[in-house]
Amino acid sequence: MSEPRVVIGASHAGSELAARLRQLDPSTPVMLLGEEPVLPYQRPPLSKSWIGNPVAGIEGLLIRNAEAYAAAGIETRTGARVVEIDRCGRRIRLESGESLPYRQLAIATGARARKLLLPGSEHAEHAPNVHCVRTLADAQRLRPQFVPGARIAIIGGGYIGLELAALAVKTGLAPTVLEAQPRVLARVTAPQVSAFYEQVHRDAGVDLRSDVRITGFELRADGAVGSVLWQDANGVDQRTPTDIVIVGVGVEPNIELAETAGLACGSGGLIVDEHCRTSDPAIVAAGDCTSRPVPGQAGTARIESVPNAAEQARTAAATLCGELQPCNSVPWFWSDQYDLKLQTVGLSRGHDEVAVRGDMAGRSFTAFYLRAGVLIATDSVNRPADFMVARKLVAAGLHIDAAALADADAPLKRLVAA
Ligand SMILES: Cc1cc2nc3c(=O)[nH]c(=O)nc-3n(C[C@H](O)[C@H](O)[C@H](O)COP(=O)(O)OP(=O)(O)OC[C@H]3O[C@@H](n4cnc5c(N)ncnc54)[C@H](O)[C@@H]3O)c2cc1C
Repeated sequence: MSEPRVVIGASHAGSELAARLRQLDPSTPVMLLGEEPVLPYQRPPLSKSWIGNPVAGIEGLLIRNAEAYAAAGIETRTGARVVEIDRCGRRIRLESGESLPYRQLAIATGARARKLLLPGSEHAEHAPNVHCVRTLADAQRLRPQFVPGARIAIIGGGYIGLELAALAVKTGLAPTVLEAQPRVLARVTAPQVSAFYEQVHRDAGVDLRSDVRITGFELRADGAVGSVLWQDANGVDQRTPTDIVIVGVGVEPNIELAETAGLACGSGGLIVDEHCRTSDPAIVAAGDCTSRPVPGQAGTARIESVPNAAEQARTAAATLCGELQPCNSVPWFWSDQYDLKLQTVGLSRGHDEVAVRGDMAGRSFTAFYLRAGVLIATDSVNRPADFMVARKLVAAGLHIDAAALADADAPLKRLVAA
């Protein structure tokens, strides 16, 4: 039997990559290696519903079941952490010491939750009620504590922190959100959109504080955190008593394996071109661990989303099989909070103008982000039709009049035609 194509990292990108490789070239074996103890599963439902449902199993989360991998001819190995890539010898070494040959390699090692680095926070980090939510194991550890009546302090007002706040409200917990920036979602949305989400959460009963600086934790006698200590925007010391702490301050890419193997890394990720090639022609990469070219943006960027992981995976598989299909679509993403479905297109950074179409008070609107008159990104809340058209408009990279975008009486479709 010929040496396999090996995929390191078994999640959204790795699972899709392995499946695509077998579709494109059924004669070459494929091995999918993941360090987690379970087959690849969907992460988005964890913060949107799974943690709030005490009886949900993991079957509904699996991207494919064991039979589907077997039927596709993919050898899966769980609990298999790769610790070294020997590019000259084309071999990888597992933590168990086992060494495996590869014909070609795909890296899909994703990202891990960033830690909150505070002086003296080491004890709190290991406290039984301090959590992050990146993996199923994280969610399984949190779920028994995520019960009606519990107080929950969420550090970080990004998408995952806000989704967990919404789920906490729905489940009957009392959430506080502590955000370091002057507004939530500051890295990714316009002030109007942040203000909208802040109001929605406050109306729902979330105690939302922005512009705060976390200064420490008070531990209880049993080693659990009893209070989060922080300073408000005026430098006044504050204290939030709590039963649960969530640290939701972003992620870091898992690129140490690639870096040690000498693959080019930068801009916060493993650098790939539009064909998902790394600096080694026999190695491709996909998903959250990569930094990729994005249409309309200078340099490369790391995109953290399921659609990006899947698209890059398909491109990477095609590249390994000798078919060049560039991954050059505009990134998109979604987030569900309460009755609000947010769908974003493009990257809004660097925008200098925002136009809003629709009715924020009525919880149905689209924010359009322009840079020098060119539409670069949109955020649609409960407006799936706008989102569909926006994908085409942003991809086209057109100059569009902000007033036309804001005019809800002028159908967006007409702008595409124009
Ligand atoms: C709670 C939550 C909610 C989310 N909601 C959304 C959403 O609504 N919409 C959206 O688009 N995205 C969402 N995301 C982001 C999305 O899940 C990620 O973009 C996606 O998981 C990226 O997939 P990936 O395969 O690139 O990386 P990952 O999912 O990070 O998987 C990488 C895998 O590689 C494994 N691995 C790492 N190193 C090694 C090694 N050395 N050896 C073997 N295995 C290794 C890791 O253990 C992991 O299993 C959410 C994420 C979370 C955590």
